Amino acid sequence: MPPRPLLLALLAPAGVALVVFLLLGWNMDAVYVSLSTLLGSGLTLMAARGLIQRRLTGLTRTALTRPESTSPSPPATDDEELEELTLVRRTLDALHQRHFTRDVGLLQEARTLTAVLDSMAEGIWVTDVEGNVLRHNDALRGMLMPVGDIVGQRPLTLLRHDSLNEAVSRACEEGGSTRLELTLEDVLSRTLAIRVTPLGGDLPGSAAVFHDVTELRHLEKVRKDFVANVSHELRTPITAIRGYAETLQSGALADPQVAAKMVDIIHRQSERLSELVEDLLELSRLESREVKLQVRDVPLAQAAARAAETVRHKAQGKRISLELDVPPELVAQGDERGLEQVLLNLLDNAVKYTPEGGRVRVTGGLEEGRCVVHVRDSGVGIEPRHLTRIFERFYRVDKGRSRDMGGTGLGLSIVKHLLGAMGGEVRVESQPNEGSTFTILLRVAVPSAASAG
Ligand code: ADP
Repeated sequence: MPPRPLLLALLAPAGVALVVFLLLGWNMDAVYVSLSTLLGSGLTLMAARGLIQRRLTGLTRTALTRPESTSPSPPATDDEELEELTLVRRTLDALHQRHFTRDVGLLQEARTLTAVLDSMAEGIWVTDVEGNVLRHNDALRGMLMPVGDIVGQRPLTLLRHDSLNEAVSRACEEGGSTRLELTLEDVLSRTLAIRVTPLGGDLPGSAAVFHDVTELRHLEKVRKDFVANVSHELRTPITAIRGYAETLQSGALADPQVAAKMVDIIHRQSERLSELVEDLLELSRLESREVKLQVRDVPLAQAAARAAETVRHKAQGKRISLELDVPPELVAQGDERGLEQVLLNLLDNAVKYTPEGGRVRVTGGLEEGRCVVHVRDSGVGIEPRHLTRIFERFYRVDKGRSRDMGGTGLGLSIVKHLLGAMGGEVRVESQPNEGSTFTILLRVAVPSAASAG
């Protein structure tokens, strides 16, 4: 069928009828011929209309269902296509192409934004103007540990803190920003620093950024406690020294017996002061990694023997038996001076916290592929609740007893730091009134070619 413009289809039968009338005059033949021509034209017109409808339907269907790609829609399968329909098809193609390019750009942008938000350590949420959470990043889920979905929830449901709820309302309603800090007492106690701001621009709603400052606040507390502890520990001997010196000045010097006792106390307190300062300096050097440990092969029996020599006099004074049973072939990787100090601190404690007539034993061997040394005592022991804390600076189970015995509260902390720097560790097992066992674990020395051969 010749798909020509519609006008042609309408004018053609009228022209044919006119020619027939002119040639044949007004007779019945002319009328029949004209009528059949008109009928033919009508049929042609209807057929053309049907074709256009089918093409338009086809084009609409293709436009609505075509896949997400930029390839042009296929032309009509017929040999010829109405010019107007070709134009429509090309226009639809161009529109499709433009939308597709924009969709790809938007999708890419959304993906980049999600990736950036999820890679952040800070938690983020965005709310609508009512304060309902619209979206959030991965970090926020980790911080809030919600039971269900976060999206669609209100701040109060998620965190149960009025101040946060008020901050979100302020941002949404008045456009004000708020900084606040909340401590969440869930399974783990966490402190979050939060900044709530309005979304800005013409966007309604608010955004909140959550920063986990638990570790930071903990470190601040540790530092404050440390300063307070140091001041307190220093003040005790200084007060004693000043007090006795003043008493001597104000007349006690005249009594040689009293004076001798006081000078003795002053001497002991000054020793305690100097031990405290030494321990503090050692700990500070270890923590700032100022001390360069020389890790080499250390025969543990020799290190234990030297440490035991230092405390032997004190042990004898309390009639404590001091036994050593470390195999001479047990060689660990460590810093010699550091290891001796570790063993000395453990042995000193063992003797210190063991009553008269008790027993202290040092044994060694290989366990789990590592060198171990156990320092066992039959002393006062430690209650389980203190066991994880005794390695903290200035932590003492019994403050009075430790001070009376000349302890600084830093010995085990130094042990832990020294061993850590050597790639080793310290463990403790203890029962009140049954004694304690401190175990150090170290890397085994690699046998040299000469000793292996
Ligand atoms: P201190 O100078 O007070 O001994 P440490 O850091 O060496 O400080 O030890 C911390 C605390 O651990 C001590 O105050 C004491 O309560 C406890 N402790 C350490 N070793 C022993 C032990 N062998 N027996 C019982 N308690 C111990």
